[in-house]
Amino acid sequence: MNKNDYTPSETMAGSELALNILTRQEHSISRKRISDNALKVLYRLHGAGFDAYLVGGGVRDLLLGQTPKDFDIATNATPEEIRGLFRNCRLIGRRFRLAHIMFGRDIIEVATFRGHHQEPNNQVAQQSKEGMLLRDNVYGTVDEDAERRDFTINAMYYNIGTYAIHDYAGGMEDLEDQLIRLLGHPETRYREDPVRMLRAVRFAVKLDFDIEEDTAEPIEHLAHLLQDIPAARLYEESLKMLQTGFGLETYHLMREYNLFQQLFPAIAEQFTEDYSSKTEQMLDLVLDSTDQRIEEGKRINPAFMFAAILWYPLLAQAEKLMASHKMADYDAVMEASNIILDQQVKTIAIPRRHTATIREIWQLQLRLPRRNGKRAFRLMELNKFRAGYDFLDMRAEIEGGETELLAKWWSTFQNAGRNMRQAMANDLDSASPKPNRRKKNYRKKKSSSES
Ligand code: ATP
Ligand code: MG
Repeated sequence: MNKNDYTPSETMAGSELALNILTRQEHSISRKRISDNALKVLYRLHGAGFDAYLVGGGVRDLLLGQTPKDFDIATNATPEEIRGLFRNCRLIGRRFRLAHIMFGRDIIEVATFRGHHQEPNNQVAQQSKEGMLLRDNVYGTVDEDAERRDFTINAMYYNIGTYAIHDYAGGMEDLEDQLIRLLGHPETRYREDPVRMLRAVRFAVKLDFDIEEDTAEPIEHLAHLLQDIPAARLYEESLKMLQTGFGLETYHLMREYNLFQQLFPAIAEQFTEDYSSKTEQMLDLVLDSTDQRIEEGKRINPAFMFAAILWYPLLAQAEKLMASHKMADYDAVMEASNIILDQQVKTIAIPRRHTATIREIWQLQLRLPRRNGKRAFRLMELNKFRAGYDFLDMRAEIEGGETELLAKWWSTFQNAGRNMRQAMANDLDSASPKPNRRKKNYRKKKSSSES
């Protein structure tokens, strides 16, 4: 670790900030709004003589009158001590060692307070030459833990022993002013963990806050540091950014800060100044529809979103292959699928089960036009037909013309009864191009003459 890059005065806001304690009467958090499981964990830790706090998004969202996504707990108990208290406990994480207390599907995350690590030759904390923290397992006090948090509004602790809120960095004030403000020196904090840039944008959109000026300023220039983040972590983050109800706005703000471009280079190649490319239209359409589905409580599939936003970059790649390698349409699209996905998983590790679905949705785009004879009936049987059709419908909105006619045909076909479907398929047969028919007739004649 380079000590000069990481002096306490530069990184740590702690000593500069006065701890403000709000007693039970001075804040609005009621235990009724904290989940039973989180309360159970807090009380058990406290009962065993440890300090236990609700922290992070749980406190922030309750103070805003919103329902927290999850409840995170911080304590001075070590992971081993936590495990000693809970039978349903799993220790996880390499970068940070955390305890997960499992209540069926509900998981309460318990973290031991993290400390500073400026002692030389310290084997438990490590930093890269970009200033990024690679390993980080030094335990500390609650005060130290607070200084390690990302934003002021995420550094408030609800003490289960006193029901007071410990506000370490003026989080209350920033909540009122609706500001996302990093603790400490922004550039240093982004270099330690570039994902904080994504988090700043995510919270700004989700909470409808502004990013405070000094916190916003370095982002565009440091955005490239995201390239050093493991693809698996960026996959998780990208879902939180784009698939949790505010995807459309989050993408637009990410793009302004040059962040989206880091995660999706092939997509960014299609970006235009007036947001007019098909790729950009598709981004707007699919992210808007995902946000709506989440609002309506419908299921969402990340594969669908990735298939949609990568489709026109895929076609651009296929066109290049057709020009340079004289490939046929179908082969070019298949080859381009490999290229685009190989490239994308380098930054965002989309799991295999999803890339398989993405390919299926793409292949269906090539198959949906060929629907004569028994084909339409067979296509409808496919597992991913619905996703393929829904995507065709989005393309229709952008492309119009034949794509729109095709989408309409499929819409009518799906809603039609058996006889009507048969008639629609027959209509196509009688209108289908000569070579196909001749081949069929030829076969028929051949077989009849053989018999
Ligand atoms: P939400 O769960 O609604 O997305 P959150 O603030 O709870 O928001 P988590 O990812 O659950 O976010 O993290 C819990 C807390 O851990 C945060 O509030 C913050 O205090 C701290 N934290 C998370 N990620 C970082 C980070 N990259 N750097 C510093 N602190 C972090
Ligand atoms: Mg959380």
